[in-house]
Amino acid sequence: MSLEKAKIGFLEAFGTEPAGVWSAPGRANLIGEHTDYNNGFVFPVGIDRRTYVALSPRKDMLCRISSALDAKTYEYEISKKMPKNLDWALYPLGVAWVMRESAKSGFDAYIVSDVPVGAGLSSSAAIECSVATALNEIWSAGKSRQELALIGQQAENEVVGAPTGIMDQTASMLAQKDAAVMIDCQSLETELVPMGLSSQGLVVAVIDTRVAHRHSDGGYRSRRDACEKGAKKMGVSSLRELGEADLPQMEEKLDDVTYRRCKHVVTENRRVLDAVESLKKGDLARLGELLLQSHASMRDDFEISVVELDTAVELAMEVGAVGARMTGGGFGGAAIAIIDESKMELLREHCKAIFAKKGFAEPNVFSVAPSEGARKDA
Ligand code: ADP
Ligand code: MG
Repeated sequence: MSLEKAKIGFLEAFGTEPAGVWSAPGRANLIGEHTDYNNGFVFPVGIDRRTYVALSPRKDMLCRISSALDAKTYEYEISKKMPKNLDWALYPLGVAWVMRESAKSGFDAYIVSDVPVGAGLSSSAAIECSVATALNEIWSAGKSRQELALIGQQAENEVVGAPTGIMDQTASMLAQKDAAVMIDCQSLETELVPMGLSSQGLVVAVIDTRVAHRHSDGGYRSRRDACEKGAKKMGVSSLRELGEADLPQMEEKLDDVTYRRCKHVVTENRRVLDAVESLKKGDLARLGELLLQSHASMRDDFEISVVELDTAVELAMEVGAVGARMTGGGFGGAAIAIIDESKMELLREHCKAIFAKKGFAEPNVFSVAPSEGARKDA
């Protein structure tokens, strides 16, 4: 179990027991992709795959971190400049850097995760939020969950250099068991909506294509730029201010590519609101349709899907999913499907067989249960 592994890893790395272990979940976004940085709506769930950080305060201001990912220990001294070459440790040490004014000491930390890395399930937010929650406690920083989410995002934007929005960290901080979190990324208001999947025998399946993505690369950035350009040309401060009634005017004013990028965001915001309503009414068939429309919009208009993700969605529908779509920033990663639990084995076999036939890497297919946000475990 990862909680125990974190304690053992800490003991091996630093020679003592940790003061505590904290964890935060990855997330699967049901719907609302690339809408967060456009001040729009998103609708993710926290998943039952978490990142654990075993941590103890130190007597000096040194922050040391190691993980099961490699055998190295990375260091940063509070109030000094962030060193270069921190690799993955930029995420957790970036959080310490953002929180440096609250720092009462340095710390030793060891990280273990069962969130697949780079799969679009936000291992990055899970690591940031677990560390932010631990530091909030040992430094008695008194930050709210929403403030800790913003701290995680700031670390990712300013220290790692990935221009990602606020969805992942908000989901990882505020998620609840058996519920999805509707986030208004403009006001940062959230609403928990019960999922009620298990009473109907349904699960959220993840099909991790194992096609790696990196948000610090160009694709994500260029989509952000297109959205900004479109908003500017339309004379609004963000695409949130436009609705489907504005589409004809947008088509007239914007070049084809910018129009299609902006159209995705405008229609996706409406789909999120519809998805929330469908879930509240228990209309899962409608929710399924919205997932498929969202996928088509990302494939055709926003152009962030890849053939493996399109195939995963098709195969999920072939075995009888209620709906399916790629999830996360795109250019690889995972698709999700809402599907009868009894069909999971079939889905796994079908994906494995067809991916092999097409010469794709073997996908990792598993189900996730909507789970609670960041917490102290030990
Ligand atoms: P995603 O959030 O979809 O998994 P990202 O590219 O945003 O993908 O974040 C993945 C990066 O986060 C990894 O490349 C690594 O640098 C860091 N990371 C995430 N989890 C861990 C972990 N358990 N140990 C070390 N680094 C991690
Ligand atoms: Mg991420």
